[in-house]
Amino acid sequence: MEVRRRPHRIAVLTSGGDAPGMNAAVRAVVRTAEGEGLAVAAVREGFRGLVEGGEAIHPVSSSDVGGVLQRGGTWIGTARSEAFRTTDGRRAAVANLVGRGIDGLVVIGGDGSLIGADVLRDEWEAHVTDLVGDGELPAAAVDTHPTLQVVGVVASIDNDLVGTESTIGADTALHRITEAIDAIHSTASSHQRSFVIEVMGRDCGHLALMAGLATGAQWVFLPERPPRTDDWVASLRTAVRLSRQVGRRQNLVIVAEGARDRHGGRITSAEVRDALAEELGEDTRITTLGHVQRGGAPSAFDRNLATRCGYHAVRALVERPAEAEPVVVGIREDRIVTFPLVTAVRETRAVTDHLARGEFDDAMRLRGPGFVEAYRTMRTLVRTAPRAAPGAGAHRLLVLHGGGPAPGMNTAVRAAVRTARDAGHEILGARHGVDGLLDGEVIELDWMTVSGWVSHGGAELGTSRRIPEDDQVGAIAARFGELGVDGVLVIGGRTAYAVAHRLHTASTGHAQLRIPIVCLPATINHDLPATELSVGADTALNSIVEAVDKIRQSAVATRRCYIVEVMGNDSGYLALASGMATGSEQVYLPESGISLDQLRDDVARLKEAFARGRRLGLVIRSEGADSVYTTPFLWALFAKEGQGSFDVRQAILGHLQQGGDPSPIDRIQATRLAVRAVEELVGEIDRGTSRAAMIGLAGGSVGLTDLARLPDLLDPDGGHRPAVEPWLAALRPVAEAMALPA
Ligand code: ADP
Repeated sequence: MEVRRRPHRIAVLTSGGDAPGMNAAVRAVVRTAEGEGLAVAAVREGFRGLVEGGEAIHPVSSSDVGGVLQRGGTWIGTARSEAFRTTDGRRAAVANLVGRGIDGLVVIGGDGSLIGADVLRDEWEAHVTDLVGDGELPAAAVDTHPTLQVVGVVASIDNDLVGTESTIGADTALHRITEAIDAIHSTASSHQRSFVIEVMGRDCGHLALMAGLATGAQWVFLPERPPRTDDWVASLRTAVRLSRQVGRRQNLVIVAEGARDRHGGRITSAEVRDALAEELGEDTRITTLGHVQRGGAPSAFDRNLATRCGYHAVRALVERPAEAEPVVVGIREDRIVTFPLVTAVRETRAVTDHLARGEFDDAMRLRGPGFVEAYRTMRTLVRTAPRAAPGAGAHRLLVLHGGGPAPGMNTAVRAAVRTARDAGHEILGARHGVDGLLDGEVIELDWMTVSGWVSHGGAELGTSRRIPEDDQVGAIAARFGELGVDGVLVIGGRTAYAVAHRLHTASTGHAQLRIPIVCLPATINHDLPATELSVGADTALNSIVEAVDKIRQSAVATRRCYIVEVMGNDSGYLALASGMATGSEQVYLPESGISLDQLRDDVARLKEAFARGRRLGLVIRSEGADSVYTTPFLWALFAKEGQGSFDVRQAILGHLQQGGDPSPIDRIQATRLAVRAVEELVGEIDRGTSRAAMIGLAGGSVGLTDLARLPDLLDPDGGHRPAVEPWLAALRPVAEAMALPA
């Protein structure tokens, strides 16, 4: 029988290279542990603090970690420690920990830090016995602190750990990179200039590859996938020449720090620049992004990833047997997962060894299917022209939008157009959704029509909220007949789904509508069933988080409570996720509604908190939380009840949430879904089937769900939703654990 024994006390440290989001992870560890009744100590300067002891290992409480969530870097400091690499150094660390009654450790860092913690755990018993023998620890220590429990949380901007799809900090780094490249893009195309951008990643091409996908760079040099020929200079020059011929005004090449050729030799940014300059006979600049990539406020995704990982790290410490092997907490397809630390580090290091030996296929395989798929997609999308010209067997697809604009719609259209064209199919676009179909505004979409669309917010094709009436369906069917449409891609939210459903159900009466239709979820509201991701939601979340960060800064000196209203329709996703990413005290969601009793408690709690010296209160209300207890109602109630204690402001964020250029995640997901959607459509056409389906991420994988299986969605009122949405089940307990007691 396994014996469960919670650690007596735990310590948390950040180690190795710093990464944005480390603070959020420390905060989550501290707050979750406190909620579990576990005392926590923070260790300053990573393993160095562990070896030094003294003040470097100090108790922390929930209130100590207030206000750190939105800060980059790590407030407890990080370091590289040579002393910890020695047995004596680790012996001192054991003495310092046992002396404070600590026998649980959460280490937040890269693979080096994880292995360091594992070595400490391995040697623990021997050191304790030794220290007791030497009289440095009381004899009882052998029984009271027989083992060290270790849980790792991976923070590294490189995203290089095998086992997790995302390490803390990688998304923020990608934000910095795409911001920089978007800015460079605009100047590059004004002057017909070429730019070489060097990004971090000595042994991992994640940042370079994802930046390539997210910015439409023309060429990407990675450590894992060297150019196929030795004469890559000639290939690059040919590509550049062709791209100028087809009218591309700028060339952007991304080089990972560790880019290699087929023999493992380095490919440097300077070599790439020289190759371009010689071909083009013009100015080519290198921009090395360097430490900019590590800096700045963490993205919404990183804050929430870190918070979730910190929470689950503590859960693993209290729930797993003390002698269980150490684990790392990570994420796969939006699910938090734990996996063995030793295997993860071994495989991560195996990638480096494979690279050193020139075994690139093995390195790619260890990076996982997502990386391989992303690489294949990137190769297609950055081409100058399609591989195949339309010929016999070519299909004709049509793409249109439905519903409000969502950042990432253009990115999805670009990926759909290029995927279809590259496979030798034709693709048309309807302007302004169904309106364009009715008015005959349908355009041909070519490879270069969508050039630059990867990064544009809004919807270049235009969108509309119209769902065709019965008498309009006939006109649309006739139009499909004239145009020879074989399959339709509808990108948008519920309106898009309703359009697809209407056309599909009318197909019994109209032969032209007996064609496959695929919907791609794109709405900031994240209110669609059967998918755990929705294009646009991450951008909206980041916009909310940036706005709330500013609101927070504006209120440093006063006692003030802000009520921030966010969008979401009847889904509380944006409210809960932004509440978690901004550290708000209270969120009101449609899923749980608002009651009078609850409001009374909330007002009392706020008053108490302000009476105890709190300076800022932050409440986030989803627009659909309650039809009676509206944001102005809450404002009036809080203002009246808070008189003399605190004042209240309301901020209804409105349309700023729908605008802006898409975030890296939205660009990558839009691309991924659009590529899959087109492949599925083409497959359906080839098989002669004509179903209406949606593409989404459900149960950990991307696939199609028949619209007919979503009757609740097709109800004009939105219908009923599943009892508990997956995101709600995943986020709510974590958000609750982060709440401070009054
Ligand atoms: P990262 O965690 O970002 O990969 P490093 O590889 O520099 O960063 O590791 C951080 C620290 O972890 C090192 O400075 C060292 O103190 C400790 N460490 C790394 N590897 C080992 C090891 N094999 N044994 C003991 N400590 C180690």
